Amino acid sequence: MKYHAFLIKYAEIGIKGKNRYLFEDALVKHIRLAMERVEGEFEVKKESGRIYVQALSDYDYDEAVDALKHVFGIVWICPVVQLKDEGYDKLAEQVVEYMGNVYPQGDYTFKVHSRRARKNYPKDSQQLNADLGEAILNAYENARVDVHNPQVLLSVEVRDTCINVYSVSIPGAGGMPVGTAGKAMLLLSGGIDSPVAGYMIAKRGVTIEAVYFHAPPYTSERAKQKVVDLAKLVSKYATPIKLHVINFTDIQLYIYDACPHDELTIIMRRYMMRIAERIAIKDGCHGLITGESIGQVASQTMQSLMSTNEVCTLPVYRPVIGFDKQEIVDVAEKIDTFETSIQPYEDCCTIFVAKHPVTKPNVKVIRNSEKKLEEKIDAMVEEAVNSAEIIWCKA
Ligand code: ATP
Ligand code: MG
Repeated sequence: MKYHAFLIKYAEIGIKGKNRYLFEDALVKHIRLAMERVEGEFEVKKESGRIYVQALSDYDYDEAVDALKHVFGIVWICPVVQLKDEGYDKLAEQVVEYMGNVYPQGDYTFKVHSRRARKNYPKDSQQLNADLGEAILNAYENARVDVHNPQVLLSVEVRDTCINVYSVSIPGAGGMPVGTAGKAMLLLSGGIDSPVAGYMIAKRGVTIEAVYFHAPPYTSERAKQKVVDLAKLVSKYATPIKLHVINFTDIQLYIYDACPHDELTIIMRRYMMRIAERIAIKDGCHGLITGESIGQVASQTMQSLMSTNEVCTLPVYRPVIGFDKQEIVDVAEKIDTFETSIQPYEDCCTIFVAKHPVTKPNVKVIRNSEKKLEEKIDAMVEEAVNSAEIIWCKA
């Protein structure tokens, strides 16, 4: 079956009135960006309150659908066959052929839903429904009409330039177009959870930047590459991601030398949050995002979360906070980050982890331990922020 175009359907809740065109323009922009990854030429256009992706050349159907499935804001993707108006008999013949191609088993209930945007078409929509329905019944003896709950809803739209025929709806990614809801900084490690967290916030229309804390030579180039790879995978949904790679080695060693070892993880995480917030504010972000989930590890008890949270003034979004590990894994598999996340490259926390980290840190005690860093830490943080390496990650 050769489809000439895709009709893009999006949810309209919450985008009435003034916001509607912002939503649509962002959606069009991101569809164009996604289609750049697909071989072939396409035109993306907004036309009487709908969005079409029109193929202008031969193209790879599976690739095109895959690209569209990664665009937030799309609820349904409908592949459309576009027919020239060569009279009703020809239309009936082509519609029958369409049904034969798309539903070769011939055994289904259906309903024809016609619309006439071009009012001078000789048959009105009621007549088209009845006549095309009859043509299909005559051609396929096991097909039956069901006007209330049809398995196949066949849409036929008579337009000025062509007649659109479609019946297939492929589920889209849902959510809101990226860029319609502000910007946030994702703390992206090489693990399973943070890429999922970034995906979930981007899904609501938020532009994502990311920060990765790298500790060479304790963490390898390969570990850093893994984070870049993950950012690229998330960017398939989230659009290109500006990744800030922070060299965290000196700060980690300093903490290791000066502070009690059972508090290392918490103090390290507090510095990660502080540095992430510094970059976030510099880049105009409205919040931070982490992949934390209550109770998963020592640094994610309520007490630990409270103690890492208190060093930030920006809101910290933790979209997987109530997820079990398996639920996070399920999303990671769906968005294709899981296989990359489980590659066995160390991340900076695992190396400096104490055998028995505190699980219920007392904030006052932690603040007191951090006093031991007073002499050099501000300058070190400053240096880490200023020497960040920027990598643009794009699918
Ligand atoms: P993940 O699977 O995302 O690595 P995790 O279960 O391993 O999470 P932690 O190592 O405690 O949990 O990290 C909690 C969160 O802190 C991560 O989800 C991530 O947002 C952030 N984080 C941890 N390590 C780093 C790092 N090296 N660089 C950037 N962010 C990090
Ligand atoms: Mg981790």
